[in-house]
Amino acid sequence: MTDCLFCKIANKEMDTDLVYEDEKVVVFEDINPQAPVHLLIVPKKHQENIMELEEDEFEIISHIHEVAVKMAKEYEISEEGFRLVNNNREKAGQSIFHIHYHLLGGRKLQWPPG
Ligand code: 5GP
Ligand code: ZN
Repeated sequence: MTDCLFCKIANKEMDTDLVYEDEKVVVFEDINPQAPVHLLIVPKKHQENIMELEEDEFEIISHIHEVAVKMAKEYEISEEGFRLVNNNREKAGQSIFHIHYHLLGGRKLQWPPG
């Protein structure tokens, strides 16, 4: 999927700074932050949304949570609280059709979301 923005970022075809990388995911700052800490955790494998995950692929979700906890500690929001959000499809607010999780923190977050 060469025309996918998050594939390009993961493949280092953009000048986006990665704040974390391992064999399965990349993490970088959202270009339009909605909170003092707003990171995107993105699997390297292109899949549009979590509905595309096969039964034996859900380990990536566990891994994303593990990375989210690590990043929350690193950005010092793990004690005060943070939110991990995954938008699936347009009606839910998904605008980039490559699986990603938002890690948000550093301010009081409202609930329910809009
Ligand atoms: P979604 O709306 O699909 O859940 O989230 C997509 C996110 O990607 C948005 O929060 C948006 O600000 C972010 N985004 C869109 N284009 C870029 C970009 O070129 N670089 C970065 N770092 N974030 C982007
Ligand atoms: Zn992609």
